Amino acid sequence: MVPFRGSFTQQEAIPDAAIAAAVEVMRSGRLHRYNAAEGEESIVSRLERDFADYQGAKYCLACASGGYAMSLALRAAGVGPGEPVLTNGFTLAPVPGAIASVGAKPLLVEITDDLVIDFNDLQNKIASSGAKVLLLSNMRGHLCDMDALVAMLNAAGVMLLEDCAHTMGARWNGRLSGAFGRAACFSTQTYKHINSGEGGLLTADDDVFMARAIVLSGSYMLYERHGAAPPKAAFDGIRLETPNMSGRMDNLRAAILLPQLAELDRYVGRWKERYDLIAKRLAAIPGVALPQRPSAERYVGSSIQFRLPWADADAARAFVAANKALGVELKWFGDSNPVAFTSNHHSWTYIEPQVLEQTDRVLAGLFDMRIPLTFTLDDCEHIAQIIAYTLAQLSLDGAA
Ligand SMILES: *Cc1c(COP(=O)(O)O)cnc(C)c1O
Repeated sequence: MVPFRGSFTQQEAIPDAAIAAAVEVMRSGRLHRYNAAEGEESIVSRLERDFADYQGAKYCLACASGGYAMSLALRAAGVGPGEPVLTNGFTLAPVPGAIASVGAKPLLVEITDDLVIDFNDLQNKIASSGAKVLLLSNMRGHLCDMDALVAMLNAAGVMLLEDCAHTMGARWNGRLSGAFGRAACFSTQTYKHINSGEGGLLTADDDVFMARAIVLSGSYMLYERHGAAPPKAAFDGIRLETPNMSGRMDNLRAAILLPQLAELDRYVGRWKERYDLIAKRLAAIPGVALPQRPSAERYVGSSIQFRLPWADADAARAFVAANKALGVELKWFGDSNPVAFTSNHHSWTYIEPQVLEQTDRVLAGLFDMRIPLTFTLDDCEHIAQIIAYTLAQLSLDGAA
């Protein structure tokens, strides 16, 4: 088998139009979002307007990171110390981290074989904890039945905050991910769907919620210079009582993001071609289980997940190692040691330990692979062949 030589962490170059816009910002010397010339709208403010338009949201705030956007959302929603906040048992470390940052307690909900939140466990934990907020993590881009979820949460009086780090551009029944809850949080970190190195976007429709988030983000009372913000009156009641926790976005990042946002739907299409090709090949391999993707879901295939439900820890390690030897970088979520971006709830020792038998069973056989857009369809074909080859070798070894 010919090894694969591509890099799983190599994103595409920043588009020329974005580079030109960034150079212009640097020439101007006006990098701070509030450092606009008289009568000029800052580039951050323009990005906020464009992203609010894209999402069909009334308001948008650009900030320092996706994790920061989540902590702002929780604080602006009034979540306080000691309060339970529901979230998926399978997510990335910044999600429980954001909950911890407001002093609240992550209450982890089981996931299903299809990698989405388990509605039965969610219902039980709402009842037993009295939690009033769900920070839903659309982990690795998998959307649960959003209509059913919203109906359940409305009936229970639980507020929905959406973590859309992996679902920017995704849809459920035609409606964009991020349009279902009180607020949605996005990341523009390098490995997400538009790339400014670091960055976050928070969208919402509620006046007071967004006024709080803007002041929290460090607006220095310059909130009237925001392009997608509630009217001035919304700030009157909260401007003095809301602390400044600086985490603004700067014009340089916004300049890099604006041209990429205009291309987002095209990126989504290119990811779909790559994802669907690999998924089709993997689905044909005996012993490989792919999460079901309902027809209501328009996913963004920036990464792919599959399970080997039969694999024990030794087999999982051998499988990852065999792929690595042939240049294919897989992550295994069942490892007891967190590796790079991949950690599971057992390694978040700052939260109360929680028993998640179903989630642990799923994670024990769960593998994950990034699909950067620098990969061609031939690359995807090659990668799928290597995975199939290593699995065949593994079962030969097992049989021997
Ligand atoms: C990347 C990510 C975030 C936020 O990331 P930042 O690095 O803080 O921008 C949030 N949730 C998930 C699931 C993520 O993968």
